[in-house]
Amino acid sequence: MPSTLLKKVWDAHTVRRLANGQTQLFVGLHLIHEVTTPQAFDMLRARGWTVRYPDRTIATVDHIVPTRDQRRPFLDVMAEDMFAALERNCREAGVRLFDMSTGAQGIVHVIGPELGLTQPGMTIACGDSHTSTHGAFGAVAFGIGTSQVRDVLASQCLAMDPLKVRRIRVTGRLGRGVYAKDVILEIIRRLGVNGGVGYAYEYAGDTIERMSMDERMTICNMSIEGGARAGYVNPDQVTFDYLRGRRFAPQGEDFDSACAWWSSMASDPGASYDHEVEIDAASIRPTVTWGINPGQSVYVDESLPTPKDVEGADRAAVGEALDFMGFAPGSHIRGTRIDVAFVGSCTNARLSDLREAARVVRGRHVAPHVRAMVVPGSQPIRLAAEREGLDRIFIEAGFDWRGAGCSMCLAMNPDKLEGREVCASSSNRNFKGRQGSPTGRTLLMSPAMVAAAAVAGEVVDVRDFADGN
Ligand code: SF4
Repeated sequence: MPSTLLKKVWDAHTVRRLANGQTQLFVGLHLIHEVTTPQAFDMLRARGWTVRYPDRTIATVDHIVPTRDQRRPFLDVMAEDMFAALERNCREAGVRLFDMSTGAQGIVHVIGPELGLTQPGMTIACGDSHTSTHGAFGAVAFGIGTSQVRDVLASQCLAMDPLKVRRIRVTGRLGRGVYAKDVILEIIRRLGVNGGVGYAYEYAGDTIERMSMDERMTICNMSIEGGARAGYVNPDQVTFDYLRGRRFAPQGEDFDSACAWWSSMASDPGASYDHEVEIDAASIRPTVTWGINPGQSVYVDESLPTPKDVEGADRAAVGEALDFMGFAPGSHIRGTRIDVAFVGSCTNARLSDLREAARVVRGRHVAPHVRAMVVPGSQPIRLAAEREGLDRIFIEAGFDWRGAGCSMCLAMNPDKLEGREVCASSSNRNFKGRQGSPTGRTLLMSPAMVAAAAVAGEVVDVRDFADGN
């Protein structure tokens, strides 16, 4: 029977079916960080348990690290304590920690792939919602909560509800100035922020197949914002080329055998899906969120909705979002004055993202009223960008060039919005208060659009910039 990747990976990792209908799944790779683990380790200790598979557990520090000055001890005592707790827990459990001294530190969803830890056919868990990122490699990857982190530390297993699969086929060529970020924002806008509940999303079609691994990661990263429990792309030559030679990827002949097995895990032609969606890539335009969830977006040249155009519960949601954001119904997103520009996060802080943003700002300058920052996703990305001279381009344009971390994606560190500031952001969530100020306002967009907004001082169409793609 032709089968989907989800079913193949699920079956290969099933320990047993539980009486409540869930599946006990073995977790191939457990990624941990400083925020969702201290309590989990405490719970383990309280029961006298140890970490079951320390060699399948990998740690980094990302959420709380300051990005301006990363010397220890951190000025923020609570951040320093969290980091110290992670160090102690890793040391005691024999878990490898990629901290700043290793040169491999970075956002957990950036370093997993970068180190070649993330591989096709795996199950992966991490105490962060955007673990779906790893699905770009044909892995089945779940964000989990603190008690589940404890369960995985103790047993390397997770109890999971069965999932349906929705195949989302994106076909055709993306227009100039349209990026993977616009594609995933389009998917979420069309299917809704709860449209994926109970599903894994399989991203397919020639548009996705032509995408680099960086772009596929951007797409899979935001699956969770569409309500999907996981999102994945079938592994192919692009995947294998990315993984070849990476530190924890199979080496030599083992790599060739691995490729054969990885290929066998891809969805079969003729596999059946619970639901299918088709999207024409050429219809997508540069997209900006205007509201307080990632599904509330418009093309940059469109006007905002008005509550009276919307039916049912959505009407109240639109009204609430317009109110919070301070937008008049039916107004235009283009021309919205911004205060902050943030290029960063596990969605869009990879080398290709920085290159696109740099292409836009090269030879230009950030508007005087805007504070702008670029936060690379990892130390290796920062280094690679510096080797290419991207840091000089950003600095000369008036951006802050920072150390790796989550930064203003969720502001559990000194990088925060203040008051009612409006931020053009390449991150993944625009919830109220997400960027550190309860009244701060986030506009999600591609890194190139953030760069263009930084220069113009307001939301603009990146296609109007001569160097846009
Ligand atoms: S960048 Fe944002 S979404 Fe990604 S791991 Fe950090 S806090 Fe989570």
